[in-house]
Amino acid sequence: MEQSDPNRAQAPVTAGNRLTIDLGALSRNWLALDALAGAAEAAAAVKGNAYGIGLVPAVRALSRAGCRTFFVALPDEGLRVRAAAPDATIYILNGLASNLSSMHAEARLRPVIGSTGELDEWAAYRARGGDGNAALHVDTGMNRLGITFAEAQELAADPGLVERLGLTLVMSHLACADTPAHPLNARQLATMQNVRALFPGLPVSLANTAGITLGPDYHFDIARPGIGIYGGPYIEGIAPLETVVTAEARIVQIRNVPAGQTVGYGAAQTLARPSRIAILSTGYADGYHRAAGSTDQRPGAATFLHGRPAPLVGRVSMDLMAIDVTDVPEARRGDWVELFGANMPVAEVAAAAGTISYELLTSLGARYARHYLGDA
Ligand SMILES: *Cc1c(COP(=O)(O)O)cnc(C)c1O
Repeated sequence: MEQSDPNRAQAPVTAGNRLTIDLGALSRNWLALDALAGAAEAAAAVKGNAYGIGLVPAVRALSRAGCRTFFVALPDEGLRVRAAAPDATIYILNGLASNLSSMHAEARLRPVIGSTGELDEWAAYRARGGDGNAALHVDTGMNRLGITFAEAQELAADPGLVERLGLTLVMSHLACADTPAHPLNARQLATMQNVRALFPGLPVSLANTAGITLGPDYHFDIARPGIGIYGGPYIEGIAPLETVVTAEARIVQIRNVPAGQTVGYGAAQTLARPSRIAILSTGYADGYHRAAGSTDQRPGAATFLHGRPAPLVGRVSMDLMAIDVTDVPEARRGDWVELFGANMPVAEVAAAAGTISYELLTSLGARYARHYLGDA
């Protein structure tokens, strides 16, 4: 937590908090998942600003590591990936937005067609002589995006379809991959095997990060890891890969508060002992979830400094939050405190807020001084 730590951002004195993003760890995590996926190609899910860490630096680092295929949610994100990775294959998961067929083709973005309406629009565009490629999303049980298996069967009866539509991939998404014993996994796998049989020769993709760990049957041709690349745990209780993101906040001031007094809005937590309270320069405006705060009824998240955890006290404010440093006598005004990172797992902070690491990462605010290790 020392300010001179070479592995930490040297944030400007005007910054209240800082993010250190380790692109070397990001690349190694991707390589580890690529190895775990066996013969399948590992792509990378970089939607949501690459899970909060920054789309362009993430794409550049992953490209250098050998990643050739990227999945984003939106065409806007796809355009930014295209600028950073001119030769990459880019899929747009949210599907084909109305009247954007030619725009996708011009930027070589491949829409993941997820409904018969999108399919009709894409087919009409191709019939008019439009080029470009697309993926087909078949729903196997999630009921979010994708045509039904019955619709896929109908399409497959037309042998020229794959070529006529320029399809390069057929994919589906697992609803319960992070719960290996859930029976829906096997059902989705069985349906996907039937989908593969419908479109011989067309590459198939099913697994996200957790799906890769369900075993080789789930790997098919292309895996789509996201959270594991960013060092988030993908199955409850399973250790994450290397830590990529470290979020820290500065101590603004330290105050001594007598027992029996309360801290913060709503007087939500009463101190049981005379306490040393450090006020940190981070709040929910920085994406630190308000629900991670602490009350008399329910303990909140913890932070980490000088080798020890320090729990939140009271509610999280917009720009500030309080921690108890009574047991951390070294704590001083100006110190950096780890909100999450190698010593305070993002999943634990997320759990204290009643959410998952995905949401905490993608909520990272714009106020952090961002520093990339390993060259952006
Ligand atoms: C986000 C997403 C992924 C990546 O999932 P992780 O759990 O982060 O590995 C893969 N496929 C689809 C369709 C997604 O939406």
